[in-house]
Amino acid sequence: MKDYLIKALAFDGQAIVYVAKTTNTVKKIVELQKTLPAASAALGRTASIASLMASQLKGQQKLTITVAGDGPIGKITVDAHADLTIRGFVDNPLATAPSYYSGTKTKVGKLNVAGVVGSTGYIQVVKDIGMRDFFVGKTEIISGEIAEDFAYYFAKSEQINSVVAAGVLVEPTNEVSASGAYMIQLLPGATEKTIINIEKVIESVQPISEMIRLNYSPENILDTLIEETKIIENRELQFKCTCSKDRFKLGIMSLGRSEVSEMIAENDPVETHCHFCNQTYMFSIDELQEIVKEIEDAK
Ligand code: ZN
Repeated sequence: MKDYLIKALAFDGQAIVYVAKTTNTVKKIVELQKTLPAASAALGRTASIASLMASQLKGQQKLTITVAGDGPIGKITVDAHADLTIRGFVDNPLATAPSYYSGTKTKVGKLNVAGVVGSTGYIQVVKDIGMRDFFVGKTEIISGEIAEDFAYYFAKSEQINSVVAAGVLVEPTNEVSASGAYMIQLLPGATEKTIINIEKVIESVQPISEMIRLNYSPENILDTLIEETKIIENRELQFKCTCSKDRFKLGIMSLGRSEVSEMIAENDPVETHCHFCNQTYMFSIDELQEIVKEIEDAK
């Protein structure tokens, strides 16, 4: 089943609900990053929420999320475009933290996401909304469990009261077997009663990773959350890296003529590396000479 996202209106148009199944997307991202389970869950939760947020963008708009906690994973970086293509990487894929319940029989191995993310630090969202216009929002990390941190971000930075849930199930083999996220955002004019109803919903529902593991579709999850809704959007989402040799070439060009000439003089070919997809692009001395020529021609 392909990954996709649905948007629906609920509570007589007082709230908008987003539900995404992100299993394949997160599986791909995590495979490329070679993360250990808790880091996979942290990155996967962030990527899943990024997909929900990207569905609020239009045209060529995109956003970059940085989760910078004080935990061993370092920074989590996720890019998402309005076309619902997502990519992400972490500073330290091998970050680990002790399991919460090691030693008890019931919840052995619950992934300690907050343990790898850390409990202090910040979340930053940069939205490239076109025409060189950027929206930047930044709030502190309050739990390190990601979803809660984003709910706080929406309330503080975008002034939108939201319920956010994200979950990733990682098998002992390290494979991602289920991943998804949902979000309920209040629209202007929402009544106190609606807020109470939403809170009730959240208390009774099982974790989203569990619902996805049980093969619930986003529509099934929506129905589980709220009885009466009206779906207004249904779109595919997927992993995609936008890197290319040409983009890295622009990066080298921006170093300027003298620096590139120096590399040539030192017979030092350039190897560039994309953190998102782990692809390497080589620039030979010949290609560097071409680049110097292009810099000169551009003057
Ligand atoms: Zn790439």
